Amino acid sequence: MDGKAVLKQLSPYQQGKQTSEIMEQYGLESIVKLSSNENPFGFSPRVKETLQSLDHLEIYPDGYTAALRTKIANKLRISEKELAFGGGSDELIQIICRAFLSTETSTVMAKPTFTQYKHHSLIEGSHIKEVDVIEGEHDLERMLDAIDKQTKIVWICSPDNPSGTYIKEEDFASFMEKCPKDVLVILDEAYIEFVNEDIKFESLSYIDKYDNLLLLRTFSKAYGLAGIRVGYAIGNENIIRQIDIVRGPFNTTAISQQLATVAIDDDLFIKETVKKNSDNRSAFESFLDTLGWKYYPSETNFLLVQTPVNGMEVFEYLLEHGFIVRPGELLGYENTIRITIGEKTDMDKLQNVLQSFNEKLSK
Ligand code: PMP
Repeated sequence: MDGKAVLKQLSPYQQGKQTSEIMEQYGLESIVKLSSNENPFGFSPRVKETLQSLDHLEIYPDGYTAALRTKIANKLRISEKELAFGGGSDELIQIICRAFLSTETSTVMAKPTFTQYKHHSLIEGSHIKEVDVIEGEHDLERMLDAIDKQTKIVWICSPDNPSGTYIKEEDFASFMEKCPKDVLVILDEAYIEFVNEDIKFESLSYIDKYDNLLLLRTFSKAYGLAGIRVGYAIGNENIIRQIDIVRGPFNTTAISQQLATVAIDDDLFIKETVKKNSDNRSAFESFLDTLGWKYYPSETNFLLVQTPVNGMEVFEYLLEHGFIVRPGELLGYENTIRITIGEKTDMDKLQNVLQSFNEKLSK
C-alpha cells in the first residue's frame, strides 16, 4: 500500500540513540546529553508538586485548553482568541502546513534551518524555495525576492536552529513591511526566552499590525518541559480559526495542560535558567576562543561550533567520552557540531575532553 508519492523520498524523524543504549555500547558509567537543546536545569519545582495531584485522567482533556489559554492571554496581554495550542510547536508546524499548503502553492524558507518546515511542506506537495543563509543568518532580502504568486508561507526561525542567530528588529520590520499581505509569515520563536534583553524586540506588537503574521512558542526549551509536548501559536483570529479547524479535538493532553498552566507562572525559574545559560555559554565561548575554534553568535541555549575536522569525527570522540552532541553534517552545516549548553560541571568536563581532542589533532 503506497501513500503519497513524496513519502518515498522522506524518512521518519531519526532521533539520536537513547542514553542507556550509548552507555551500554561504550561501557560508560554516565552520559551527558547535549544534543536536543533541552533545559539542563530541569523544570519548575512547582510543576513537580503538581504532578502529585493530577487527577481525572478518565476524562477527555479540555479541547479549548481554557485554563492555560487564559493564563497566557493575560500574561502576554493578548486576546484569548489569538492563541492555538499544539503537541509541541512541531505539531503546529504540521497543522499549519496542512491548513495552508497544497500542490498549487510554494513556500519560502532559509537553508539550512529547522528541518520540520521543509518536511511537512513537502508532504503537502508544496514547491519548496530555499534561500541560503549568510553566515548562519537568514537572508531576508533574498527570501522576499523568492516570493512568487503561489507563495503561501514564509518561514522565519529566530533565534534560528541550528545556527543560534537572532534577527534584528529593523530587519524584521523591513521584511514585514515589504512582504505581500497574502503571504503567511511564520516566526518560530522556540528559543525566545534566551535572547539578550538588549536586542530582544517585542514581536507581539507586530501581531496587531500584520494580519499575516503568526508566532510559534514552546514549553520545550526554557520551561524545561520537552517531555509534556505543549507549544502555542499567536496570531490573528482568522489564522487561529483555520488552525483550530485542522487540529485534532484533543491534541494537548489533560496532564500537559495542567503542568504548563503551573509552569507559565514561575517567572523565577525562567529567569534563573536564562542567567545560568548565559553564564555557562559565555564561559564556554571563552574556552573555545582559547582553543581557536570559531562559533556562530548564539542567542539560544546551544552553540554551533566550527570544528577543524568533520563534525562526525568530533561527535564520535565526544560520544566515546560520555557526551552526546549533534554533528552539524546532519543539520546542513559541514565541519561543525551543535552543543546544547549544559550545567557548569558538565561543561567543565566537556572542555577537558575537547581540549584533549584538539591536542590529539595537533600531534
Ligand atoms: N522550532 C524550533 C526552532 C526548534 O528547535 C524546535 C525543537 N527542536 C521546535 C520548533 C519544536 O519544538 P517542540 O515541538 O518541542 O515545541
